[in-house]
Amino acid sequence: MNELLKSLTEAVGVSGEEKEVRLLIRDLIADHVDEWHVDAMGNLLALKKGTGASDLRVLVDAHMDEVGLMVTEFDSNGTIRFSNVGGFDDRALLGKVVQVGPKKITGIIGARPIHLTTSSQRNSVVKADAMRIDIGAKTKDAASAQLKIGDKAAFVTEYEELGPTAIGKAFDDRAGCAALIELLRVEPYPFDLHAVFSVQEEVGLRGAMTAAYAVKPDAALVLECTPAYDLPNKDDVSPSVALGKGPSIYVMDRTAIQDPRLVSHITATAAENDIPFQIRRPGGGGTNTATIQRSRAGVPTATIAVPGRYAHTPAMMINLSDYANVVKLAEATLRSLAPNIIQHSS
Ligand SMILES: [Zn+2]
Repeated sequence: MNELLKSLTEAVGVSGEEKEVRLLIRDLIADHVDEWHVDAMGNLLALKKGTGASDLRVLVDAHMDEVGLMVTEFDSNGTIRFSNVGGFDDRALLGKVVQVGPKKITGIIGARPIHLTTSSQRNSVVKADAMRIDIGAKTKDAASAQLKIGDKAAFVTEYEELGPTAIGKAFDDRAGCAALIELLRVEPYPFDLHAVFSVQEEVGLRGAMTAAYAVKPDAALVLECTPAYDLPNKDDVSPSVALGKGPSIYVMDRTAIQDPRLVSHITATAAENDIPFQIRRPGGGGTNTATIQRSRAGVPTATIAVPGRYAHTPAMMINLSDYANVVKLAEATLRSLAPNIIQHSS
């Protein structure tokens, strides 16, 4: 059992309220870094001093937050209206168990039972605004005595391993956080490594913005968990990325074009070290690369990701060797990152 992935994915950290995850990570890295601090946004920044061989400043980012829900209103019957924190397909919500607020009160995302629906209702998607979180409270006062508007709700999913795969919630991006923790637990790099466990990625790549400004890196690497879409499907013969085929390397998404020199360096490093990799099909999505690369006067940035099925739902699936290979590839990429790779000669 990968205890790191288990503890990180079972922790709760809906965007804007990442403290539980941050405290967990702080304790996991404290003995392996030279300094750490928490900035005004809530990002956890840690410095692992280098050997002194290179004066590059390198930032490695993974976001701590996960998608979830927020309490917006209490109905007279004691059920709770909510809005989404981060992007969801409404169809993924119905019937799911959530933990709400700081006391982690258990609730169910409910709607009319199938017995009482008409066939036309069953053939249409129930929108999130027609759903309520039910914590068993009978009145508005009973519900609002336990929770307040603005409280967050997160999914409840126990981490499990099934052969080569792992199932759990929030692999996006706790798999990246776990990988970054592993990168901090090994021998120093030639340069100072600035680890950023960032907040609020899922609501607009926000935490990485201030962290990148503060770190002022020469180059950056983002560790992510990217949606895999690889089940047999007659209509779509070009899957985004597949489970078990290795780390996924971004070239372009909706928000950024990855630095081509870094992408070449990553793929060459993978080839040299016999690490499998797959280029993620360009388009869709976005990562902290977008904000980091545009911070200050610009930062060459690239993204390496663990492929994960069913992103932004209560239960995701990853392949454990993909995860291990992301750690291996990221470490090899960093150890061989020389200043000339990111210098423009003309
Ligand atoms: Zn993510």
